[in-house]
Amino acid sequence: MSLLSVDEALSRILDGVSPTGTETIPIQSALRRTLAEPVLSQRTQPPFDTSAMDGYAVRAEDVTILPKALKLVGRSVAGKRFEGVIGSAEATRIFTGAPLPEGADTIIIQENTRETGGTVEVLEGSTDRGQFVRRRGLDFGAGQQLLSEGTILLPRHIAVAAAGNNGSIVVRRKPRVAILSTGDELVPPGHAPGIDQIVASNGVAIAALVNAAGGEAVDIGIVRDTTEALHSALDRVFEEEPDVLITSGGASVGEHDLVQGVMTERGLELGFWRIAMRPGKPLMFGRLDHMRFIGLPGNPVSSLVCSRLFLWPLLKALLGHEPERQMEEARLAAPLPANDRRQDYMRGVFTDCGHTVTPFDKQDSSMLSTLAKADCLIIRPPHAPPAAAGESVPVLRLDF
Ligand code: AMP
Ligand code: MG
Repeated sequence: MSLLSVDEALSRILDGVSPTGTETIPIQSALRRTLAEPVLSQRTQPPFDTSAMDGYAVRAEDVTILPKALKLVGRSVAGKRFEGVIGSAEATRIFTGAPLPEGADTIIIQENTRETGGTVEVLEGSTDRGQFVRRRGLDFGAGQQLLSEGTILLPRHIAVAAAGNNGSIVVRRKPRVAILSTGDELVPPGHAPGIDQIVASNGVAIAALVNAAGGEAVDIGIVRDTTEALHSALDRVFEEEPDVLITSGGASVGEHDLVQGVMTERGLELGFWRIAMRPGKPLMFGRLDHMRFIGLPGNPVSSLVCSRLFLWPLLKALLGHEPERQMEEARLAAPLPANDRRQDYMRGVFTDCGHTVTPFDKQDSSMLSTLAKADCLIIRPPHAPPAAAGESVPVLRLDF
């Protein structure tokens, strides 16, 4: 039986995805959201000529020969300008961010002056016309585009949007991802597992990955391995109207692997089941109305690696982002044997100051400790011949 390739599986998952709708949110909540529209400036910045230093506002022509005494006629401070006009041989005190008084064209820094009574004496230093004046519109003008559609907002983007007086912005609605963890053996983290039970890690890990990718995770929790329990969990899922449903476990061929059967009863249009990859062979994908469904294997490393390879790009597509090119190259520190028909994703660490990559000896898909320690996944294409130490191999840097 020929299995679907990883690339083909991903392109089927992404086929026909259109971005989520938009919503307007306060700028205070914008971190890591995706802009659905460009952000324009609502005003010019700075809105007036302003001083970049604490000092004195003068006319350059008055201070060509130093030292020179000027008459102090007022003060301009940030938030309250000097209302008058500076005339010949006059100056005002001025502070950073204060509007440049009419008539003045230059700032003399405080350190180069001496103030006595109503006079300031310019003693030394540069007096170049326009120095330390930030011209109106130096940063940006009203109506100017500050940020483009599709930007994932980081603190620096939020800063410029706010400076442009945007109290709210239009972003993509977060794709909603319902997560359902199947298994009679599972208890939530932090509870006392009974005999023969294990702690469920997939749900919390996938939820974290969803949130990191810009989605909104709705963790439905642990579901027992019965068709009734699955059906009632799915009732809750449909109430949430998710864009994506993720199940973990129960995707294989055992008699407790009920996910596919129950999903089919609910109207699933199966896209594929099982792909040529390790870890993660029993991956399942389908659609139910507008909802996309990914059935992940229960093995923790498989479920998380498959989430990164398939769910992450799906969320990015739902947020309107172009597919990322994510592969890098690294040199093997140790030889690898020939590969079989499944594309292999081997956990590895960067060694020799990042010049080489060393795969872990054990690659069992249950072993989360090595996934946590790994820097990357070494990708071994199907039927790859043996690879010698020093050979260059594709790697996917672990960013989750
Ligand atoms: P399954 O795909 O249901 O056959 O599960 C495969 C393996 O993954 C079994 O050893 C399960 O105990 C384990 N497993 C299933 N679900 C989880 C989970 N949510 N967290 C951690 N391990 C799990
Ligand atoms: Mg199971």
